[in-house]
Amino acid sequence: MIRVVSRINDWRKLRRSGEFEHRSLGFVPTMGNLHAGHLSLIERCCAENELSVISIFVNPTQFDQQTDLEAYPRTLHDDLRMAEEAGVDYVLDPAFSELYPDEYRYKVTESPLSREFCGAHRPGHFDGVLTVVLKLLLLVRPTRTYMGEKDYQQFLLIRDMVEAFFLETEIIPCPIVRDTDGLALSSRNRNLSPEERKLASQFPALLKSPGTAKETAERLRKAGFEVDYVEDFDGRRLAAVRIGQTRLIDNIDVP
Ligand code: AMP
Repeated sequence: MIRVVSRINDWRKLRRSGEFEHRSLGFVPTMGNLHAGHLSLIERCCAENELSVISIFVNPTQFDQQTDLEAYPRTLHDDLRMAEEAGVDYVLDPAFSELYPDEYRYKVTESPLSREFCGAHRPGHFDGVLTVVLKLLLLVRPTRTYMGEKDYQQFLLIRDMVEAFFLETEIIPCPIVRDTDGLALSSRNRNLSPEERKLASQFPALLKSPGTAKETAERLRKAGFEVDYVEDFDGRRLAAVRIGQTRLIDNIDVP
């Protein structure tokens, strides 16, 4: 039976209890609106650990646009059903005041990587991401933490933060789950109109097409995307585009 914990003090008490002693604990941090991409992480987490916990928290400090935060889909009821079916033991679902008793006076800042790519277009975004993930990792103290390669820059920053602060968790990268037409699954895909969704399906195909990052950016622009960036880094080609109000990111292996 899945248990939902909203109060940080309740969770801390529980985490100190005998239930967690000598048992591996897997963790998947999420912002909810769960889809098959999240589920791939959650199912692996449940398979590889004796206990599993996910967090569902739409983290305001990582949104640089208030409108984006307000538009973010919230589907807690369905999320809990999916998590329960996948075999999750605990869901952390805290309010902002629970997770930020300091009202964000303290934050984790990284440079230079967090200032590049998505960070260059979303000021403060990775400060918010790293801060909330550090808080969650200190609270959950998981054996393993599962992160999607869909957010590749985020995965790198969290992996390196764990090393920098000597956190005792193994960061496990998980491959991108895509829709049948190749578009990486994302909660933001819900905000696309049918016409925008059609254009979006060209994003992964154009990203994979041969040529330099610059040429790819040009092709994306010609197809009708607003391009934030296309850049090669760490053996991947990372890209972010906008269609209307919706921002999409993706990345592929580059040989
Ligand atoms: P989010 O709820 O968007 O913060 O995502 C929570 C976790 O799920 C992050 O580690 C994401 O990288 C991962 N994730 C989201 N979409 C996908 C996807 N399509 N494939 C693999 N992982 C994903």
